Amino acid sequence: MEFLPLFHNLRGARVLVVGGGEIALRKSRLIADAGAVLRVVAPDIGTELRELIDRSGGEQILRGYTESDLNGCVLIIAATDDEPLNAQVSADARQRGVPVNVVDAPSLCSVIFPAIVDRSPLVIAVSSGGDAPVLARLIRAKIETWIPPTYGHLAGLAARFRHQVKGLFPNVQQRRAFWEEVFQGPIADRQLAGQGAEAERLLQAKIDGDAPAATGEVYLVGAGPGDPDLLTFRALRLMQQADVVLYDRLVAPAILELCRRDADRVYVGKQRADHALPQDQINQQLVDLAKQGKRVVRLKGGDPFIFGRGGEEIEELAAHGIPFQVVPGITAASGCAAYAGIPLTHRDHAQSVRFVTGHLKNGTTDLPWKDLVSPSQTLVFYMGLIGLPIICDELIKHGRSADTPAALIQQGTTVHQRVFTGTLANLPQLVAEHEVHAPTLVIVGEVVTLRDKLAWFEGAQASV
Ligand code: SAH
Repeated sequence: MEFLPLFHNLRGARVLVVGGGEIALRKSRLIADAGAVLRVVAPDIGTELRELIDRSGGEQILRGYTESDLNGCVLIIAATDDEPLNAQVSADARQRGVPVNVVDAPSLCSVIFPAIVDRSPLVIAVSSGGDAPVLARLIRAKIETWIPPTYGHLAGLAARFRHQVKGLFPNVQQRRAFWEEVFQGPIADRQLAGQGAEAERLLQAKIDGDAPAATGEVYLVGAGPGDPDLLTFRALRLMQQADVVLYDRLVAPAILELCRRDADRVYVGKQRADHALPQDQINQQLVDLAKQGKRVVRLKGGDPFIFGRGGEEIEELAAHGIPFQVVPGITAASGCAAYAGIPLTHRDHAQSVRFVTGHLKNGTTDLPWKDLVSPSQTLVFYMGLIGLPIICDELIKHGRSADTPAALIQQGTTVHQRVFTGTLANLPQLVAEHEVHAPTLVIVGEVVTLRDKLAWFEGAQASV
């Protein structure tokens, strides 16, 4: 090991930065974040750096470096583009036995800056010993995606209860087991879901020995329109910790693959009228599984709150006092529009966008047609394929021009994506001609013409 990682408490300590440019600014920011007092020496110091120095309660010295600048400093940073000067600063600091960092010159450093993931009070530092800082930064980026931004709050929670727990378990092993349970169970879930007060309440109950019997929890998760890359970090994290997954027909197999390997998978998919499981039975199943103490992911295509019946499912959970959280997903309209190169709004073409259900009730779509005919409004129809002839007819009848551009996007965002464009007049014909099938999204409005310039995603390349 070339460098031993240590975490340096700099609160209130004086740090010398030699240099007044961009790099000096970057290092100074970190140093100021750690609560140190800056002393910056350079003939020229940029405005932003000056403000930072003031905020740290430090001093700026507008001249060249001299050895006495080191006086009283616990850490030295050389951040100039003058190599001999940097070497001089390094030699002076080493002479005095003060830790020194020279930017981009590992051989002149006694200490180096790691790449940092800051989830204060939790801090993760990654270093390549100065040999490959880009590699260290890439690893940092991966860690950033694994560890949710609110993770630091868990450490905060632990800090608030540390003494109590220590009093309860004088034995280190017992204490460790206690905290492992806390960090991997429902208490941590509550904290990470932004319910800090509830997490504290549960932790206190656990300490007092009257923790409620383990109840499970339901995560209502939006899986996005198909491309697994469009999942959110939170969706992925919860999918990987759930014991059971209930999923729809719309959830792509590639997404299901990302769930925990040994999780039970239950298909509750719906195919229009032919429901694999009636909605009330799905609701009941969620309640039953959670009551058995299971962590259940209810995985839905797109966003659970957009034509997803997500509301109905969690109403039932709420009625039974079962904890749940909702993870938004990219809805089909956003996903398909982006991957088809059709901006849903545009200053020249559409000032508003409307998401509409095209689902037929009793063989007719009962929609407020008069509100849908403004030429500056983009319409997005979900579940609109069967009713498409009626939809196009009614729009034209109520005054939207038959020439209005329109698009069909089948299996949007996936490698099977197909896009067909036409007008309100010929859209139903395109469906028949190209055997378009579900899931397909319909976009109506001037914005569809932008696709000619903006299409970028290839998909199945069967587009007209
Ligand atoms: N909650 C989902 C919508 C469920 S309704 C969401 O937010 O996206 C189901 C309808 O969504 C389908 O009939 C279809 O119109 C649309 N849809 C969902 N995924 C789609 C996809 N990948 N491509 C095209 N349309 C899609």
